[in-house]
Amino acid sequence: VYPMVGIIGRPNVGKSTLFNKIVGQRISIVEDKPGVTRDRIYSKTEWLGKNFILIDTGGLEPKSDDEIFTKMRLQVEAAIDMVDLILFVVDAKEGLISNDEEVADILRRSRKKVLLVCNKIDNFKEMPASYYDFMKLGFGEPIPISAANGLGIGDLLDDVIKNL
Ligand code: GDP
Ligand code: MG
Repeated sequence: VYPMVGIIGRPNVGKSTLFNKIVGQRISIVEDKPGVTRDRIYSKTEWLGKNFILIDTGGLEPKSDDEIFTKMRLQVEAAIDMVDLILFVVDAKEGLISNDEEVADILRRSRKKVLLVCNKIDNFKEMPASYYDFMKLGFGEPIPISAANGLGIGDLLDDVIKNL
């Protein structure tokens, strides 16, 4: 059996973009509308000879009466239970919002290993102020990436396999 790595975060932070970038194919649907990834999407992948299963999830919405959101949340919580390592993705363009804090609470309670990944850093010359705000989430210094432009992905994967 291969170790499993789950991509978790609120909707629209770029989880599916990151998934597709890592697996090298456009398997997962990328959408401007939040909540498009309703089901878990898996792919076996490899970095420097280490195999693992990468899982894309729908975004973790705050608690809601909406049936679809409740189902999405249960799906994500099931995914969290399954995985060995979590990539907690946040969005440098939007910055830290309360929804991120709620995701952080869920992840802390899961007691799983978490790497904080700060996406949408499209220019690595200077980190935006929002990048440093994410330290407040309590998962250490974020790993900067641009999933869209493919920046920082190699360093992120180095960290992933170190933690498997
Ligand atoms: P998900 O809901 O977390 O799966 O997010 P998606 O992968 O569907 O992406 C949401 C939006 O963010 C889409 O419009 C993406 O094109 C955009 N996006 C994803 N990654 C990046 C990035 O690195 N930089 C920028 N500027 N936009 C991105
Ligand atoms: Mg998605």
